[in-house]
Amino acid sequence: MNDEAIVKFAQGLRGAAIGRNHPDYDEARKLYNAMIDKRPLLIARCADVADVIAAVNFGRDNKLPIAVRGGGHNGPGLGSVDDGLVVDLSNMKGVRVDPAKRTVRVGAGCVTGDVDHATHAFGQAVPFGIISTTGVAGLTLSGGHGYLSRKYGLAIDNLLEADVVLADGRFATASETENADLFWALRGGGGNFGVVTSFLFRTNPAGFVYAGPLAFELGDGTAVMRWYREFQPTAPEDFYVFLGLQVIPPHDPFPQEHWSKKVCLLMVSHTGPTTEAEKAVKAMRAELPKPIVDWAQPMPYPVLQSLFDALYPKGLQWYWKGDFVKTLPDAAIEAHLACAAKLPTVFSGMHLYPIDAAVHRRKSDATAWHCRDATWSMAIIAVDPDPAQASVLKKSARDYWEAVHPFNLAGAYPNFMMDDEGEARVRAAYGDNYQRLATLKKKYDPANLFRVNQNIRPAG
Ligand SMILES: Cc1cc2nc3c(=O)[nH]c(=O)nc-3n(C[C@H](O)[C@H](O)[C@H](O)COP(=O)(O)OP(=O)(O)OC[C@H]3O[C@@H](n4cnc5c(N)ncnc54)[C@H](O)[C@@H]3O)c2cc1C
Repeated sequence: MNDEAIVKFAQGLRGAAIGRNHPDYDEARKLYNAMIDKRPLLIARCADVADVIAAVNFGRDNKLPIAVRGGGHNGPGLGSVDDGLVVDLSNMKGVRVDPAKRTVRVGAGCVTGDVDHATHAFGQAVPFGIISTTGVAGLTLSGGHGYLSRKYGLAIDNLLEADVVLADGRFATASETENADLFWALRGGGGNFGVVTSFLFRTNPAGFVYAGPLAFELGDGTAVMRWYREFQPTAPEDFYVFLGLQVIPPHDPFPQEHWSKKVCLLMVSHTGPTTEAEKAVKAMRAELPKPIVDWAQPMPYPVLQSLFDALYPKGLQWYWKGDFVKTLPDAAIEAHLACAAKLPTVFSGMHLYPIDAAVHRRKSDATAWHCRDATWSMAIIAVDPDPAQASVLKKSARDYWEAVHPFNLAGAYPNFMMDDEGEARVRAAYGDNYQRLATLKKKYDPANLFRVNQNIRPAG
């Protein structure tokens, strides 16, 4: 393609076109995961829907690979592409809460903290993930689980409507009553079906929570994990506890005698009244070994949502592996603890996020997100600031995964997969929903224009 075509496209944008000679290029192409270093041909930083339509048409007509970027948090960096066009939505940030209807309209460039901030003024929230700098768009389109998911479901279970620019440049609104098949596919099918420009969510009561970490010596890990596997699936829906195998960061405010110690973590969040929550956490403490860190306390919901932000700033090296988990037999617990003892860096760890309660109330074919009969979504993360550690991180996460995968289900949460896992893993993530997704892909994106994602191939 020639420079003239690029100049013409750039002149028509209300936002910015950032090419390789632009002074902001290196900053604009940076992703959350610094292990990924992609060099797009052009970044279209869109200002509005008209810009998105122009960008999709430009990319398609010039046969450029297209990546769509919301928050840029994706593990394998699927919000960017080498030698192609990035449709960057990060400036499309408006949030409008309707307290009477209990809804919130969210621009596709928002991060979850933008929405939590706006809805908290009304004592409301949407279930999103555990770091407030994650993009709403990528998180939601592949499902979205977090502290409120036992009570209110996945992010997609609270999605009422989405505006989408399709592969042919048409604009469509998708909801239960309009383009219902597209709405079904968007709720879990990732970025496969078009560029979502705005989301309308239902909001839910979540003003204050009783929350925080309880960390136990790794030597107590067997007792804690055995307790957890019985407790979590039958706990009241207000009570969400995710389990982590992690390392205590070697700095304040963590107690110095425990710096760099490997621990078994229970991260609790209770959405009920404080007195009830306190009672529930007290009862839990009585059944467990003595924690070495115990910081559960009342806090505003957005504080909980951003509790891990400072530990995981943009620019670290990340390698992820995930799986859905149904049961945790003793042998799996022992395998986890053996791997935890070998975690390569203080930023690395493993989390088991509950998938139950409200998530189980919907059938597996109610939305594209399939694995609703899992009990946990597992993420193994190998993380460090030093680029020289990249191969160590990859090997460590893969070794950990190899050791525990035999106890797990075949598929993983697509947002916890890297891009080197192969088509079989994508199919396993979607299970029986894959064929319907492939048929809808053929209807809405027959040429697979949107393929920089956990890709669903158009049905043959
Ligand atoms: C530290 C950390 C913590 C996390 N915790 C959680 C958690 O608790 N719960 C959870 O569910 N997930 C969690 N995640 C995973 C997160 O959901 C994914 O990384 C997700 O892809 C991030 O979305 P994004 O918009 O920031 O990503 P981007 O990198 O911008 O995009 C990711 C993918 O989404 C697609 N996409 C983005 N925006 C659009 C759009 N508007 N229209 C169409 N397609 C689009 C892109 O094509 C790309 O394939 C976490 C990730 C990190 C790094």
